[in-house]
Amino acid sequence: MPVIRPLPAELINQIAAGEVIERPSSVVKELVENSLDAGATRIEVDIELGGQRLIRIRDDGGGIEPDDLPLAVASHATSKIRSFDDLEHVASMGFRGEALASVSSVARFALTSRARGQDTAFRIEVDGGKLQAARPAQHPQGTSVEVRDLFYNVPARRKFLRAERTEFAHIDDLLKSLALARGAVEFRLSHNGKPVRILKAAKDEQAALLRVAEVLGEEFPAQSLRIDHAAAGLHLSGWVGLPTASRSQADSQYFYVNGRLVRDRIVAHAVRQAYADVLFHGRHPAFVLYLELDPAGVDVNVHPAKHEVRFREQRLVHDFLFRTLHEVLAQTRAGQMGGASA
Ligand code: ADP
Ligand code: MG
Repeated sequence: MPVIRPLPAELINQIAAGEVIERPSSVVKELVENSLDAGATRIEVDIELGGQRLIRIRDDGGGIEPDDLPLAVASHATSKIRSFDDLEHVASMGFRGEALASVSSVARFALTSRARGQDTAFRIEVDGGKLQAARPAQHPQGTSVEVRDLFYNVPARRKFLRAERTEFAHIDDLLKSLALARGAVEFRLSHNGKPVRILKAAKDEQAALLRVAEVLGEEFPAQSLRIDHAAAGLHLSGWVGLPTASRSQADSQYFYVNGRLVRDRIVAHAVRQAYADVLFHGRHPAFVLYLELDPAGVDVNVHPAKHEVRFREQRLVHDFLFRTLHEVLAQTRAGQMGGASA
């Protein structure tokens, strides 16, 4: 008797969801990244009960054409790439066409959108994997996604959810990290109806530094050095904390590759080496660094949640980072310590 059976589509989506949707903050990450990809200038995130009861993201981006709405929640359907070649040059945050399909398979889900140039908005709902037909709705240009009762149909996952405060803290941390990557976008976060964080669009460097201070602490600007250096097709900018302002934990380290927060071995090693002779053992530097390079020089398709990347020229990237940081930190060796705001 044959025992191998194809899995039902709904189960496939739930399994796929397991890879990227670990907790409420993972939903927020996927949805806010979609808003960013849609060119939003303003993103509102409303959370209830640490995200377990409600996650609602509203943006003023380009919206979704009415005919595309059902495809938006279909798996492996995306507007961001068309070919393998596109994948090699991908500049958007998303490209897997999986997030909405995954999220909508593990929650009660609604998507309302008005596309640019349309005068009506439409709303679709997915409940228990069943897609309801699109209905006209009220909505300004842009998109709203509502995710209710996360994991209501996945008890095993629900059991792993932590206290409301903990889950909300994860969401807040995530939003801060996204906000650091996109200074020009306004972010608003509320919890249980109360505004928690309002990050106004940063129009110039001074405003960008204020946003950095909001995330890394008021004292950070005065305790950091500005970096802005380009060579060999690589551009590194941002702020590195002075060794004297190091921390006991590595929790204030933000490294972005083409706008994407990554954890990378090569990067971590280069940073550690650059700080090696100015930092006491067991201390961790604080930094916000942005590395920009040709998207073809970095593979982002390494991990479903895209926290990891692979540089095509690892050595080159490593040495560039090390040299640039080492040189800037040399100022602190020479004893000329000045803050980025000085
Ligand atoms: P991906 O981002 O990998 O393409 P998603 O499942 O996250 O996959 O989204 C599917 C598609 O739905 C996207 O390619 C995009 O066209 C559309 N979409 C999702 N969210 C938004 C949004 N906030 N604004 C405009 N379009 C969106
Ligand atoms: Mg996406």
